[in-house]
Amino acid sequence: MKAIEQNFRRVTPYVPGEQPKKKGIVKLNTNENPYPPAPGVLRALAELSRTPDALRRYPDPAAQELVQALAASCGVGEDQIFPGVGSDDVLAIAFQTFFQSGRPVLFPDITYSFYPVWAQLFGVPYRCPALDGDFRMRREDYYGENGGILFPNPNAPTAIAEPLSFVEDILRHNPDTVVIVDEAYVDFGAESAIRLLPEYENLLVVQTFSKSRSLAGMRIGYAVGSPLLIRYMNAVKYSYNSYTMSAAAIRCGVEAVKDEAYFRETTAKIVATRERTARALKELGFVVLPSSANFLFASHPQYPGRQLYQALREADIYVRYFDSPRIDNYLRISVGTDGEMEQLLGFLASYTRGEG
Ligand SMILES: *Cc1c(COP(=O)(O)O)cnc(C)c1O
Repeated sequence: MKAIEQNFRRVTPYVPGEQPKKKGIVKLNTNENPYPPAPGVLRALAELSRTPDALRRYPDPAAQELVQALAASCGVGEDQIFPGVGSDDVLAIAFQTFFQSGRPVLFPDITYSFYPVWAQLFGVPYRCPALDGDFRMRREDYYGENGGILFPNPNAPTAIAEPLSFVEDILRHNPDTVVIVDEAYVDFGAESAIRLLPEYENLLVVQTFSKSRSLAGMRIGYAVGSPLLIRYMNAVKYSYNSYTMSAAAIRCGVEAVKDEAYFRETTAKIVATRERTARALKELGFVVLPSSANFLFASHPQYPGRQLYQALREADIYVRYFDSPRIDNYLRISVGTDGEMEQLLGFLASYTRGEG
């Protein structure tokens, strides 16, 4: 190591899913939405290209137009919405705002692998209670003293959702720490904890436009919480970067929220494709965890996960594989279009018949 490096911060970063440059692949590895964003989003971008002032000027630091749209659609006050550059940005700010007690923050051992990375980056101690044998969270694991609680619902990469009664039980046992529910996949079939907000000042719900609103490329996420929590997050944000959201992201976000019909139609299509794909995978002998998300978590008793992942990749079908304890025999398969799932299933059918 060079002398100059002695004083540098050393971290182990999060590794996002691959974004291959290759054309014509079937890309089922990062839980993107296979459908385009709402038509109004594309119109808003065209409109922006005709109004250069919108780009010449700084954007609204509070992204108020988007905050208003989200407050209306979530049925909460405008002082209960915190918008950000994807939910990763929102979660990172929440880590820095709420997890300052020095006591360990709790999140499951199998979950979104960004959580331990933020904990390390921000110097937050943490502990990871193990999911049970069916990959479910055990509520009792979240009853003891802690510095905060964080989990996705549905969980990733398992796709399993816990009912609202589970979330409420955890909230009730932890009135003095912040409980963050990461609802990146909630629109595909789970119950949102937003309904619990009037009763729990310590609840923060985080959602994203990346999955159910087809806008991963625009980077839009938000937290919904009590005015108390949102006020503290804003103080941290304004101490860090006033202009987190671009003018384009704000406009696109508003248009995406407005088109409720398109949102319902595309999420329903994904859910229908998911159910068909899950049945077909089971017919091929796969074990498929019950999914309330836009992806499936599946393993095959005869073919190791890594081998399937590699064989699929060689056939230009990309899925996600995690080389981690307990899940290293599973594939995480994003739900694409019906046509993409046909290609996946066609390949797996011949592979498991020994033609691979
Ligand atoms: C995709 C995902 C996110 C991040 O989404 P962005 O809004 O694109 O930053 C956060 N949490 C979980 C569990 C996710 O799967």
